[in-house]
Amino acid sequence: MNTPPEKPFQYQLWINGKEEPSKFGKTFHRRSPAHDVVVGVYPLAGNEETDLAVAAARRAFDEGPWPKRSGAERASCLSKLASLIREHADELALIETLESGKPIAQARNEMEWAAGIWDYAAASCRNLAGDTYNSLGEQMLGLVVREPIGVVGMITPWNFPLLIISQKLPFALAAGCACVLKPSELTPGTTLRLGPLLAEAGVPDGVVNILSGYGDPVGMRLSAHLDIDMLSFTGSTEVGKSVVAASRSNLKKVGLELGGKNPQIIFADADLKAALDAVVFGICFNMGECCNSGSRLLIERSIYDDFTQRLISLIREVKVGDPLDENTQIGAIVNDEQLDKILRYVDDGQRAGATLRIGGHQLKGTAGRFVEPTIFSDVRADMAIAREEIFGPVLSVLPFDHADEAIAIANSTAYGLSAAVWTRDLDRAFAVSRGVRAGTVWINTFMEGPAELPFGGYKQSGLGRELGRSAIEEFTDLKTIQVHFGPRTGWWVKPRP
Ligand code: NDP
Repeated sequence: MNTPPEKPFQYQLWINGKEEPSKFGKTFHRRSPAHDVVVGVYPLAGNEETDLAVAAARRAFDEGPWPKRSGAERASCLSKLASLIREHADELALIETLESGKPIAQARNEMEWAAGIWDYAAASCRNLAGDTYNSLGEQMLGLVVREPIGVVGMITPWNFPLLIISQKLPFALAAGCACVLKPSELTPGTTLRLGPLLAEAGVPDGVVNILSGYGDPVGMRLSAHLDIDMLSFTGSTEVGKSVVAASRSNLKKVGLELGGKNPQIIFADADLKAALDAVVFGICFNMGECCNSGSRLLIERSIYDDFTQRLISLIREVKVGDPLDENTQIGAIVNDEQLDKILRYVDDGQRAGATLRIGGHQLKGTAGRFVEPTIFSDVRADMAIAREEIFGPVLSVLPFDHADEAIAIANSTAYGLSAAVWTRDLDRAFAVSRGVRAGTVWINTFMEGPAELPFGGYKQSGLGRELGRSAIEEFTDLKTIQVHFGPRTGWWVKPRP
């Protein structure tokens, strides 16, 4: 089994194609949430470094070769980056496990997942097409071309650092944009490591700049910056709203991927064995620290007791422990603040009258922050544990009597990120997937995310879409070019015969 490194990994900012310390030599560090030892030391960026990074990106976009390169040339850089992620997958996965507490086997899968997105985005580079109108009369042709939107700021959270930046960055690069990245201060390691890999892949200096630092000031500065044309944010709904407010400074475009309280709806006729597995996976994956976490379970009343009992037996088997152990399924919670939040919701659920069926406790006796997978039954749709995002392995189980009631409960939160419906009745599966207001609905599966399919939220779960055929278009603006042929009828000068 791996152990934490004897010395913490050291990182630098990535500005204008070079590794840089912070201006005043300030650093901050990260302790592994599972082992409580320092695993990374990072430069602390502030306003000055942010301005330098934005200026480098601005120059790279306004003067540089990147936006002018052909799609084929950009594609070759993105493909190379995909290969480099695969080549460095073990190191990158280790960094993510040490910083976030996620199981190492899962982290390794995420590296392959991320590399696959870079491959997919590489293909998008050569498919960025516009539109033409040949119906405007014989003297007129209309062209609608897509152009890169400009400099894009990207702010990401701590739960899937490389995967989430890989849902944004390769598509912005594919479009020809220049970027400034700010990962979460809890897990900046793999994003910072991308800098030198991008240079090796042939991405010119200044096209990507990477800052480690806090939301205040770096994230706030990026959100309000006049030289940034678009801000792509993944994180909490609360901070997403403040990003939107700050973006008013220059009316920059904003893309948001926010929180979720995602229901899995199980009908009695479903393949219950498969559904059980998906429910356990849905709540335990990444310790429940997942925007897509299946944190609400809606079960048809006729199987409610039996299914819940089988679920409790299955979740008891889930292995919680050191994330560096290859067999671990639930690693450490990211920090004390998040652990306290989870335990507060467990208290709150009990006080509100829900029944705690299993779990609910911190695992003591280690240096790490571990929590048992937790199931509440007898949950009502108006309870906080049924409506609010807990971001931990805490499942709220609710009964329903018919499909319309299941849809109503599913839609009864402010979120609308994803949902699943489990049934063998195709008519019902489609009726429910049409009724639920969510950006993604899975039928008889859960949390699969091929790069081909768009991802994003309804309601307060987000704005815009990532991945899919149109992901590259999110990072473009439309330009209309109207061409006139032959003599033009003037406003006051008639054309000469
Ligand atoms: P936060 O919203 O707290 O932070 C996200 C990022 O924003 C971090 O880099 C943070 O910096 C930065 N930030 C904090 N304050 C500001 C500010 N005022 N202006 C600009 N940037 C700021 O989210 P978490 O990191 O805690 O991540 C968890 C949240 O992310 C959950 O709600 C989850 O649902 C959501 N999420 C959504 C996903 C989706 O695709 N829909 C995917 C993954 C997560 P720092 O923390 O370093 O100070």
